[in-house]
Amino acid sequence: MLIVGNGRMITRNPEQPFLESGAVAIDGNSIIKVGSLEEVKAAYPEAEYIDAKGGVIMPAFINVHEHIYSAFARGLSINGYNPKGFLDILDGQWWTIDRHLTLDQTYLSAMATYIDSIKNGVTTVFDHHASFGAITGSLFEIEKAAKETGVRSCLCYEISDRDGMDKSREAIQENVDFINHALKDDTDMIAGMMGMHASFTISDETMERCAAMKPECTGYHIHVAEGIEDLHACLRDHGTRIIDRLMNCGVLGKKTLAAHCIYVNKHEMELLKETDTMVVHNPESNMGNACGCPPTMEIFHTGVLTGLGTDGYTHDMTESYKVANILHKHHLCNANAAWGEVPVMLFENNAKIANRYFKKPLGVLKEGAAGDVIVLDYDPLTPMHAGNVNSHILFGMTGRNVVTTVANGKVLMKDRVLTSIDEAKVMADCRQAAADLAKSING
Ligand SMILES: [Zn+2]
Repeated sequence: MLIVGNGRMITRNPEQPFLESGAVAIDGNSIIKVGSLEEVKAAYPEAEYIDAKGGVIMPAFINVHEHIYSAFARGLSINGYNPKGFLDILDGQWWTIDRHLTLDQTYLSAMATYIDSIKNGVTTVFDHHASFGAITGSLFEIEKAAKETGVRSCLCYEISDRDGMDKSREAIQENVDFINHALKDDTDMIAGMMGMHASFTISDETMERCAAMKPECTGYHIHVAEGIEDLHACLRDHGTRIIDRLMNCGVLGKKTLAAHCIYVNKHEMELLKETDTMVVHNPESNMGNACGCPPTMEIFHTGVLTGLGTDGYTHDMTESYKVANILHKHHLCNANAAWGEVPVMLFENNAKIANRYFKKPLGVLKEGAAGDVIVLDYDPLTPMHAGNVNSHILFGMTGRNVVTTVANGKVLMKDRVLTSIDEAKVMADCRQAAADLAKSING
């Protein structure tokens, strides 16, 4: 039994959204009581107690589009890399990295990403993995890191024909093996999806093989129209726009997650809505790759379940929140744009997306929900109440304010110190692995 209390509490439960001095009691992996500090402490006087010291208590963050394989790109210089466009960025940087990753480097990339996620208060991650140098077993290496660090994970391997059909088939098999493995796991902490890179690297033959081999209960996680090149290739090679092609190939549906959706039209948005397909927006990545601004506000208002990710650019969901908030204002020349939509995406829709794969309610502090709670060191300089908590998060907090992270009832970080991981040792191992990777890339 664990109580986290003595802080301003944001619950995301509409019945009781904010408590001036709240507490949450967790038994096993579930929340069993939410209320005032006095009330909760009186109900469970013997419980272990984490004092929020007047900070902010809220549900842990969920990241619905992440790339563990990109961890060792930080500080890496690739000889001759000088991208002229999005395809150069993919081939010159990301595919170059993933073609050289060993299984051990994939494992350490996952450890680094999960540790940073915990330090930013993220306890649920939807990852999209590629390591064409070592495909088979790669998702199982990531799962090992997920279990060691305690971060709930939905994993997939990005199928692509870019390195030939043998590797494409191996990637499909890795997904199938992992999905079937995850389906047997009853911890509600691991799940699998059928990963796909993007329409322009996947032939009809591979699409058909995926459809034939995919376990029925799961969906696809795929990049959609991230670059204009993806749309051009689809029009040229298949005579359709991307969402139409995905519809024809049976990829859309309520378990499928489409990342980016920059070059989609109104008809495609309607198809996403009709099929109840999920979309994830990654503002910093889109800006960094000069890919363009997606019509996320229009997709959202079409009624598509739209969430927020980081695409590996950062592991701090408040960064995505801050940048999405200003990107759409800037792009639409509308100072009101994104103000209401982005917090719905981050705090409500990410939970709805995650709960299409995990059973226990996520992203909310209420009885029966998963015991995923964070404490932030934050003392508001203006009054804080149910009606303005998102403004306080947007303008006053970053992931670095997170001091304590609890996932599935387990304390992963307390007062900025990881409880069960030797962080300094893992970071030293990561630096060595990253140096080895750089050497194998640059010679
Ligand atoms: Zn991505």
